[in-house]
Amino acid sequence: MLAAYAVVMAGMIGFYPVVADHPWLGTAWQVAVGWGAAATAVVGVRRHRPAGQAAWLLFAAGVFLNATGIAVAAVVEWASGPVYPSVADAFWLALYPCLVAGMLVVQRRHRLGGSWTATLDSATITAGLGLLSWVYVVRPTVHDASLTLVGHLTLAGYPIGDVVVLAMTTRLLIRGGWRLPALRAVVGAVGLLLVGDILWVVWSQLGLEVTGLALSGMNMIFLTSFAMVGAAALHPSTRQVGEPFDDGTEQQVRPALLVALTAAALVGPAVLTTQAVAGRVTDAFAIAASSAVLFLLVVTRLAGLVRHIETQSRQLRELARTDALTGLSNRRDWTTHLPYATEQARRTGRPLTVVMIDLDHFKRFNDDFGHPAGDRLLKSAAAAWQEQVRAVDRLARYGGEEFILLLPDAPLADALATVERLRAVTPLGQTFSAGAAQWTGVETSDELVARADRALYAAKHAGRDRTEVADAVTAVP
Ligand code: GH3
Ligand code: MG
Ligand code: MG
Repeated sequence: MLAAYAVVMAGMIGFYPVVADHPWLGTAWQVAVGWGAAATAVVGVRRHRPAGQAAWLLFAAGVFLNATGIAVAAVVEWASGPVYPSVADAFWLALYPCLVAGMLVVQRRHRLGGSWTATLDSATITAGLGLLSWVYVVRPTVHDASLTLVGHLTLAGYPIGDVVVLAMTTRLLIRGGWRLPALRAVVGAVGLLLVGDILWVVWSQLGLEVTGLALSGMNMIFLTSFAMVGAAALHPSTRQVGEPFDDGTEQQVRPALLVALTAAALVGPAVLTTQAVAGRVTDAFAIAASSAVLFLLVVTRLAGLVRHIETQSRQLRELARTDALTGLSNRRDWTTHLPYATEQARRTGRPLTVVMIDLDHFKRFNDDFGHPAGDRLLKSAAAAWQEQVRAVDRLARYGGEEFILLLPDAPLADALATVERLRAVTPLGQTFSAGAAQWTGVETSDELVARADRALYAAKHAGRDRTEVADAVTAVP
């Protein structure tokens, strides 16, 4: 179906230059392509029943109205000669609100409505393009005295419509619109529409009378744009367009986006330089306004990015010092903290004790009840112990089923009392051996831990389920 449609459309568009100069066949041909594309879009919607049906019906309506405008223009010209603006412009301009509304539906459906960064980025690009459009398209016609107010507004409608549609398309692209063929076709259709509009502007600014092959060529661009809307709705991926989509790249600034943002930021300076070189800066206010808006948008985006990075680095820091299974401090965090604790003990002259704990015959527990049960025991033991220690104490998971406890401001006797409390609350009758060492006041952190470890080893040797105290090999000075 899609292939047949593509062949017919390609044939119609390819053949268009042959009939273009015929008084009414040329017009009928264009209208046929537009109406055909619109009808096909409706067929595609009925066939695929996508979640965001309204979007495709709006696109179809836009194409239908725009194509109808071609017929209306022909009738108006036949009846009363060339008039500007005419009713036909209303039909042509109707394409823009239809496109914008359709894209809004697509983006809402994608749950992209709240994608703040995509909005900021597309607004930034629009601020640059808006300036270009103002300086080179809209403003030059402002002084055209032959135009009525309606004429001015109509003429301005096209570039403004282009910029708004482009902003919506940019937002769609930023949020992954490129991944679905159906959306690619819509983006392509919009792209062609813009190319056609720009060509039209360039030609009319150069004062060229567009006729013959050039006119046919330009009309073929618009016809291809129509045809692509029909193809988009017919493509099976239309069904996915309405599905929520989040690829987790919300905050990313991809290279293409970075290039686009940079280009947008340089529009103001470029226009200013061009006008200065030409000897007269005619758009100072527009350049200033566009630049100001752009700066504010970029700063807002930057602030969001910085906040995002701060949040992430906080989360990473937290992850890096936490043991995943028990939620206790991990070995790295505990070891990093120890020198601060000894330093504080040295300053205050208060005692400091370290206790190393290792579960007894834990391998057997795993063998008997399974590794997951072992994990659960480690977790519940850690939780129960954490409740028994003071806020200033630091309990950490040192390795597999080995824990370590730092008790500032606690002489050995207090530390031993704490260890007995831990013993009492250890779940499932599990026992542990412990080695305690009070800081001598001169040894290094490593030496302190090594003494606690040796005491633990002694406790294991002495029959487990007990606490051994390390001898103070070095006297307190
Ligand atoms: P003991 O300490 O009394 O000499 O005997 P043990 O069986 O506990 O021996 P050891 O401390 O050398 O062995 C540790 C065992 O703890 C090995 C492994 O089966 C278990 N283990 C270590 N880490 C984990 C873990 O994260 N989860 C579980 N379920 N088991 C672990
Ligand atoms: Mg062990
Ligand atoms: Mg053990």
